[in-house]
Amino acid sequence: MPYGISYAGAESDYDSADVFMLGIPYDRTSSFRPGSGQAPFEVRKASYNFEEICFEHGLDLPQLNIFDQGNCESPFLPEDMIEEVKFFMAPAVKSGKFTIAIGGEHSVNIPIIRCFEKNDISLITIDAHLDSRDDYLGTIYSHACVTRRAAEQLGIDNVFALGVRSISREELEREDVVPHITSFDIKEKGMEWAVKKALDSVKNERIYLSLDIDGIDPAYAPGTGTPEPFGLDPMDVKNAIGLIGSRLAGFDVTEVCPPADPSGITSILAARFINEVIAVRSKYLS
Ligand code: MN
Ligand code: MN
Repeated sequence: MPYGISYAGAESDYDSADVFMLGIPYDRTSSFRPGSGQAPFEVRKASYNFEEICFEHGLDLPQLNIFDQGNCESPFLPEDMIEEVKFFMAPAVKSGKFTIAIGGEHSVNIPIIRCFEKNDISLITIDAHLDSRDDYLGTIYSHACVTRRAAEQLGIDNVFALGVRSISREELEREDVVPHITSFDIKEKGMEWAVKKALDSVKNERIYLSLDIDGIDPAYAPGTGTPEPFGLDPMDVKNAIGLIGSRLAGFDVTEVCPPADPSGITSILAARFINEVIAVRSKYLS
């Protein structure tokens, strides 16, 4: 364990773990303000702020066995990051463990999705950005290319983005635009409507949820690399996790940027979302 702390409650060994957790401190393709590499440490630290159970899900939850691998290395080249993440994630996915990753920037999602079989999962992102560029600033593994890479892997009808409010003309005008719902429509029609639309749109039953923390309004999550106003309410995102419910197949939270988060509130929110995912997962395993 490079930093000496593991996630709160992560006391299992690998073999008996239901949940496999990995910190991926990679932030080399960040386009505006870097620093998300420090997030795995800060989010783990924030996890000690909470009770072990989320009482609103019922006080007698069976605790899942959680194994925290610690952080993987953060090589310079994105190609090397891809291999590094796959090295840790692929065996965990293959053995049927529920994986939770703490980024790092959003690009860490690219190798995780590649650990799943093509027809096994669909990807839903919660993100201010559509992240569907072919390449960005010289790499196809940029955090601006996450949904495009997933669409190549899973098919474009197995990718859906929620909370989007920043799209380049290049992304919006192409024929194979990544399916998405804006934060404006979610504000008007509700998260329940939006999640239902997303679940109806994708073809595979199991849903991998990738939370780019900038999907949430910067008033609640200011500590992020590319903050974008008019975002989602954290309670709506909490509800989205519950609505995906039994279909959840894996989770990552990315783009928390501790240098831009002096109060630590964004790391605290990220940890609480991880706990929410674990609580929802427990509910459907019991
Ligand atoms: Mn993103
Ligand atoms: Mn984003």
